[in-house]
Amino acid sequence: MRYTQYYIPTLREVPSEAELDSHKLMLRAGMIRKAAAGIYSFLPLAQRVLKKITRIVEEEMDRAGGIQVLLPIVQPAEIWHQSGRWNVYGDEMFRLQDRHGRDFCLGPTHEEMITTLLKNEVRSYRDLPLRIYQIQNKYRDEIRPRFGVMRAREFIMKDLYSFDRDEEGLNRSYEAMYEAYARIFTRSGLKFRAVEADSGAIGGDVSHEFMVLAPAGEAVILYCENCNYAANDEKATAALPETATEPLLEVEKVATPNQATVAEVTAFLQVEPKKLIKTLFYKTETEFIAVLVRGDDDLNEIKLGNLLNQPYWLAPPEEIAAKLGLPVGYVGPVGLKGKGVKVLADLRIKTMKNAICGANEHDFHLCHVNLERDFTVDTFADLRLAKAGDACVRCGQPLKETRGVEVGHIFKLGTKYSSALNATFRDEDGVEKPFIMGCYGIGISRIMAAAIEQNNDEDGIKWPLPIAPFQVTILALGEEQKATAEQIYQELTAAGVEVLFDDRDERPGVKFKDADLIGIPLRLTVGPKSLAQGEVEVKVRMTGEAFRWPLAEVTPLVLAYIKEQDPVSA
Ligand code: ATP
Ligand code: MG
Repeated sequence: MRYTQYYIPTLREVPSEAELDSHKLMLRAGMIRKAAAGIYSFLPLAQRVLKKITRIVEEEMDRAGGIQVLLPIVQPAEIWHQSGRWNVYGDEMFRLQDRHGRDFCLGPTHEEMITTLLKNEVRSYRDLPLRIYQIQNKYRDEIRPRFGVMRAREFIMKDLYSFDRDEEGLNRSYEAMYEAYARIFTRSGLKFRAVEADSGAIGGDVSHEFMVLAPAGEAVILYCENCNYAANDEKATAALPETATEPLLEVEKVATPNQATVAEVTAFLQVEPKKLIKTLFYKTETEFIAVLVRGDDDLNEIKLGNLLNQPYWLAPPEEIAAKLGLPVGYVGPVGLKGKGVKVLADLRIKTMKNAICGANEHDFHLCHVNLERDFTVDTFADLRLAKAGDACVRCGQPLKETRGVEVGHIFKLGTKYSSALNATFRDEDGVEKPFIMGCYGIGISRIMAAAIEQNNDEDGIKWPLPIAPFQVTILALGEEQKATAEQIYQELTAAGVEVLFDDRDERPGVKFKDADLIGIPLRLTVGPKSLAQGEVEVKVRMTGEAFRWPLAEVTPLVLAYIKEQDPVSA
């Protein structure tokens, strides 16, 4: 491709609306332009990257037994009513009506659609397993669209749905997808991690997220270097500490005037935060709930939500005062039972001895409080947010923390949708059974942003070669080198290499700047000095390495480099 015949509207200024590097760079490199919040046009460079990613995804889906289809984006409300999700999905769903007033939505996901389709077509166990996928736009009216195409309202997703006879079949489908995902991100040249993920209130089911590692990623990952345990912070759990062995002391009420927060109380009483019991109040439709966590821990609201399995919210302080007669800031578990409050506690509360908690009296705390003797708990569960330094639940080594961008999510659904939508097949024993399903998503457009987030510097993007818009860019520094540059361009193109030839009449400085910004993996520069010696200057964008290649060997050396960087596609 000749630069002069192409369209790359690069920007010199850093766009003020963008926070993340990837967002800034996609705007600056002329890859995307915003139409509305979370709605973007993909310009030529981006479109090339999307095609590369799509091809890798398609190849790996097909290899894993996937069959590609294309389902409607516009979906009738009825199927969502049948699954019970029309109301549950809430404001994230884009809804519309046709001229007859019938309700539709723009598909945020396609479980209902694919299940409805197959239930009328696939009747026998002989037709299973089926792994059906598509690649198309998805629509989600995200509460906070941001970071450009990373969290968009219109984005491109690959979604595959597996249909199996039984649990073993589902396990095989899941395994096949897990491996396919690992291959996709490896082939794309990205550093990634598969982590255990929360599977929501459906309960019990298995789910993994694939994270592209990047410091600015929204997701927090806890992992163990020793045994490879890894989970996102919503799901992560840690080994319990030993139960304290100190002798139980008498409860003592101490004055803590104006010392309400953990920081204030621990400083005032000169104790470590882990000696404290924090008491948090939530409400459901029917009851008040007190949740106890250790003073140095934070409550994991996802875990709490899974345990409660119903809507809940933070109880307003006025209500805690008015309805329960408790002074916010000085509440504790002792005597709560008498007030009709349900008490939940994190497992670590069990390991504490002689703890400190609010006295349920303004300006007072209790010291040397002990479980069973002084207070009781209705339900213990793992309710805390795991954090770096915690002991790994599998091997006991300290967990580490890192951040990432979720680019893929795989999920064992079981019969949730097939039961709701009455999608059954006749098994070998003649019995009608619901399909056992799984669903597997990949954010194609998000991968593009995540790849940049992981691979950039102050000058621009550093594309991993397998998903780069072009593999090589050629620059001629002056008029006298143009003919040689043209010759290299012709040769490489003839050899099947994807080349962007910067044939513009721009100063070398401008060309170098744009080349760095756009981030094409290999930059070949034909300048007066190297040309006099029969060589071209080579710069590897990813590593910054610079060296020279003899003119006569450019094509085989480029091909060898591509093969090394992208062994599967090349
Ligand atoms: P998130 O937690 O980031 O909102 P999700 O759990 O809602 O993601 P899934 O429903 O599992 O995402 O969708 C599958 C994949 O689609 C995600 O792994 C991600 O790569 C991509 N994706 C989801 N939402 C968006 C979005 N708003 N913009 C771009 N890609 C998205
Ligand atoms: Mg989401």
